[in-house]
Amino acid sequence: MKISTYIHIPFCKTRCTYCDFCSYPNVPAHRRLAYAGDVCREALFYAANLPPHEVGTVYFGGGTPSLMPAAGLWKMLATLREHMNLAPDAEITLEANPDSVTPQACDGWLGMGINRLSLGIQAVQDDMLRTLGRAHTHAQSQAALHCAQQAGFANVSMDGMVGLPGQSMAMWQDTLDFLAQADHVSCYTLEVHADTPLGCAVAQGLALPNEDDTADMMLEAHQRLAARGFTHYEVSNFAKEGGQSRHNMGYWARLPYIGLGAGAHGFLPTQVSLPMPHDPLHVPQNCLRTVHRFPPTLRVNCSTPHGNSPASRVDAPALYGDSPALHAYRYENIGDLTTYAEAVAQTGHGRKTTDPVTPEDAIKETVMLALRTHVGLELAAFERDFGKSPITDAQHARWVKEGICQPTPDRLALTPKGFLINNAVISAVWDNLGL
Ligand code: SF4
Repeated sequence: MKISTYIHIPFCKTRCTYCDFCSYPNVPAHRRLAYAGDVCREALFYAANLPPHEVGTVYFGGGTPSLMPAAGLWKMLATLREHMNLAPDAEITLEANPDSVTPQACDGWLGMGINRLSLGIQAVQDDMLRTLGRAHTHAQSQAALHCAQQAGFANVSMDGMVGLPGQSMAMWQDTLDFLAQADHVSCYTLEVHADTPLGCAVAQGLALPNEDDTADMMLEAHQRLAARGFTHYEVSNFAKEGGQSRHNMGYWARLPYIGLGAGAHGFLPTQVSLPMPHDPLHVPQNCLRTVHRFPPTLRVNCSTPHGNSPASRVDAPALYGDSPALHAYRYENIGDLTTYAEAVAQTGHGRKTTDPVTPEDAIKETVMLALRTHVGLELAAFERDFGKSPITDAQHARWVKEGICQPTPDRLALTPKGFLINNAVISAVWDNLGL
């Protein structure tokens, strides 16, 4: 079984004003190193309990993974190599904040096999970075990019944000021109959470760009980055030739992954449900079946873009056949560092919740995740797996004419214009399927 591994490193220098991620500021180095030990113990649990597997991608996300001392990163990767059959050509990504990128750090990361660096740039205006509570300046972003490229990272990704307070198109264009120096760019829309300092400021009147302005900024990203040789391969992601994130492509294709660390999420086929005490999903050995296709640590919320009450749910296996793609579960680890460490010490893993993906939600996820990518939904494969076409020929032709879909008869794939209204398209497809 091919599998991906997400490792959550929940440490940050300070707390950004918009952040609602699982992260802890000012954790001393010895505790960060001890945490690496907890993650290794959890990895050993999965190594012992998963069927034969190969780890094709590893993603250190955060938090700020670049704050993990090199010895901790090295130890986690050594554990994956020794015990989890880490592929020799594995894509290994480290998220880094620009202020923690130095020539020495880059050399160390490359030396331990990390081959993809993802820099959290967000904006190129120092005022804006201060509003966001970021710990870095634009000069540090420039230095970090230079360091990473000089050190020899073949794939450098940079993140930018739209919808920021006081952000104009000209400011976004300046940010895009900087981001375009990378191999891969992610553009995210600011999400405002009420219980954050930024959320409070917005509630007290801080103005944000409206939806139309934000949509225009995303279209500008498409045009400006396309002109610099980027393919818009997912709603929020752009890559130069060969620069696509293999790890994230796995999420969108619903491939299995394990999540290690505090607050991490995982997604596994039910067939590889692990023998945990009180695990309601544990399947006895004689019920195991061959997994032939498994299309992600996305928190997939199938109540959006529009939700059905449980009472209106259809009997998905009866309607759509019994594809293995229907049978999976997602889990979430405990977020509190101490409780996570205690759980790992006692049980081997840090799971807080384990939730089966209902067959109906599996189909919804398949549609929702595929339609985020420029490849889209393969119509024949979908019909084979789920016994029903997601779209009529007439509707497909109309969406092509309206510029929402690409003119690909074998696939339902959105255009950049379609990406902007992908929730509405997803809802329409779910309606077609009676979901
Ligand atoms: S760097 Fe990321 S995880 Fe850390 S506080 Fe800022 S937004 Fe949150």
